[in-house]
Amino acid sequence: MNTSIIGYPRIGDLRELKFASEKYFRGEITADELEKTAKQIRLYNLELQKNSGLDYIPSGDFSFYDGVLDTAFLLNAVPKRYTDLGLSKLDTYFAAARGYQGEKGDVKALAMKKWYNTNYHYMVPEIDDETEIHLAGSAPFELFTEALDNGVKTKPVIIGAYTFLKLARYKGTKTAADFVEDTATAYSAILEKLGELGAEWVQFDEPSLVKDMTAEDIGLFTSLYEKILLHKGNVRVLAQTYFGDVRDCYEQLCGLDFDGIGLDFVEGKKSLEIIREHGFPKGKTLFAGIVNGKNIWRNNYDSSVKILDELEKYASDIVLNTSCSLLHVPCTLANETKLAESYKKHFAYAAEKLTELAELKVILSSDAPAETEEYRRNQALHSEPRSGENKAVREKAAALTDSDFVRLPAFEERERIQKKRFDLPLFPTTTIGSFPQTADVKAKRKAFRNGEISVSDYEAFIEKKISECISLQEEIGLDVLVHGEFERNDMVEYFGECLDGYIFTEKAWVQSYGTRCVKPPVVWGDISRAKPITVRWSKYAQSLTDKPVKGMLTGPVTILNWSFPREDISLKESALQIALAIREEVLDLEASGISIIQVDEAALREKLPLRRSDWHEDYLDWAIPAFRYVHSGVKPETLVHTHMCYSEFADIIKDIDNMDADVITFEASRSDLTILDVLKENNFRTEVGPGIYDIHSPRIPSKDELKDVINRMKERIPAEKLWVNPDCGLKTRGNAETVPSLKNLVNAAREVRNENC
Ligand code: GLN
Ligand code: ZN
Repeated sequence: MNTSIIGYPRIGDLRELKFASEKYFRGEITADELEKTAKQIRLYNLELQKNSGLDYIPSGDFSFYDGVLDTAFLLNAVPKRYTDLGLSKLDTYFAAARGYQGEKGDVKALAMKKWYNTNYHYMVPEIDDETEIHLAGSAPFELFTEALDNGVKTKPVIIGAYTFLKLARYKGTKTAADFVEDTATAYSAILEKLGELGAEWVQFDEPSLVKDMTAEDIGLFTSLYEKILLHKGNVRVLAQTYFGDVRDCYEQLCGLDFDGIGLDFVEGKKSLEIIREHGFPKGKTLFAGIVNGKNIWRNNYDSSVKILDELEKYASDIVLNTSCSLLHVPCTLANETKLAESYKKHFAYAAEKLTELAELKVILSSDAPAETEEYRRNQALHSEPRSGENKAVREKAAALTDSDFVRLPAFEERERIQKKRFDLPLFPTTTIGSFPQTADVKAKRKAFRNGEISVSDYEAFIEKKISECISLQEEIGLDVLVHGEFERNDMVEYFGECLDGYIFTEKAWVQSYGTRCVKPPVVWGDISRAKPITVRWSKYAQSLTDKPVKGMLTGPVTILNWSFPREDISLKESALQIALAIREEVLDLEASGISIIQVDEAALREKLPLRRSDWHEDYLDWAIPAFRYVHSGVKPETLVHTHMCYSEFADIIKDIDNMDADVITFEASRSDLTILDVLKENNFRTEVGPGIYDIHSPRIPSKDELKDVINRMKERIPAEKLWVNPDCGLKTRGNAETVPSLKNLVNAAREVRNENC
């Protein structure tokens, strides 16, 4: 049995590409020097894969910024505003990726969107009526040749035609169907060219096939490939899917002239079922995605062998594959020097997954797989009792009953009690939590982490910042204050660090977009709260003012969505454990006199399943209760806020209302307040603070423009349900724009208020 991977991380083991690119952006190195670093990374990865014994080594999985953007350039789907700048090829590419502001012009970047259900983001190609799709680039050929020159005949990988057309945004009157001919011609040309260069296999990535597909979608997919595959010549073509199963199009997929079909047996919950029901076409190769490309745990060889044993009943030619590109895991454990071996031995990053594929190959080619050394070692590892078990937490989670998820009294009754308690003016003003994390804050945290200053010095500094922040907010005239979040680096890592059961890596960076990487913490054991986390800061802040100060927490779903989750227990169980811990914090805040508590669920939408039919069963049915449990124990008079970063929740609006918070603030300024109509139509019960200005931009909104926004909001939402706030935390902004912006916000609210009375 041969082995394959779908793609490898391209950022470099130590994020070399990130650092080189950023230097290039700052003008510190030349394009040639950047290209040199890129090439070093590619050749290093190539060598690593070759040495691991991998049979199908990908090329073309490298990118300076993003693979979808590369495909747009390859196919000439590049808006004129970028090519018109007259920049070099590389700089035109970066202009589309990051925007350009300079002597040649001023253009914004292409839009960026989440890549399916991952935390990676791709650049959205823009296609208008003038776009002429044709083969316009040569990157796949150059990268194939580069690898060939270095002794490896690779399997070129390219985003497939269907997925590309589905991901593009159509600016004119034409739609995807109008581009079928040209797109098919371009892809045919790619196949022909790769064939000439000697490629044996070409992989087309078609993750869009795992989404819900209409008859029209299926038609688009088949019409593209009926044409493209006519030109494949001697090249064998692999249709590679991932992030789910292909239940809507399996028969069509099998009916086309593909030579290989790549299916995901990790996230594709129906993949096995589909094969059992429909079989697998004779003469084609099944690329079986068995090694998880998204998580960092070691593969359980016994489970993998069982799946492969079953697949062998249906497919005579199987290639062992990862479930998706390894782009979504960190590069290598080799640089995790601080993490204890007792943890590390359970981890497999990208490089270690290569070893797993090689070991599985040995096991599978043995007559007695269970007797192999590799298998035995793996079984021993997986049967070791995992440290970090907390029986009390498990019992507590298991004992929860329906009533634990219900806050009493009901919303309307609470609202009445709370209005009386707080006596806030109409359109109360507040912020989302963080205030600018200025250089002094970052420097002090660093000094503290490096042991250069004492705990008491650090804490005194945080108190000073809180006290300044409270005075500032009083001076600005906000109604509901915050402590400013100066003690936290990050809204998830901070809580992770304070919870038992979490562990942290040193170098487990995963690309999030372009040069940005994230380092998700790892849920290792059962989660519990060893001691209060934020209480002292909130209490201190509240002691400085008569106005209410919001306690500020991150919710269980967001904490889990931005971590590497466990695989030995369900996400639901992990979310509940985190909810138990955060609930304790909520109750402690309340007991220390905090009257308003905000539980942020910034990333609630992030892991919403790709298929609508899975939304409730696989996600919302545990995610919403986990949030509800966090706040269901507070007193009626305690006001519970939540915050979400996107207002893209029209389609789950009932579920958002069902979180049963008293107030929700969210980002609405960039989406043109369209969400307000949806709120109105649905009789949204929760009070709302649609962000009235965009904190992602340094622009200072004027009082009048903010008044205008509030006025537009109050046309749709009853005035007594409206809050006035920016659209997200202010930590990435400076004081220079924050202070005047907030003053304008407060004055705008006051004026609208007066005009209303
Ligand atoms: N309370 C957090 C802050 O203000 C929320 C951040 C977020 O939504 N991403 O920074
Ligand atoms: Zn936000």
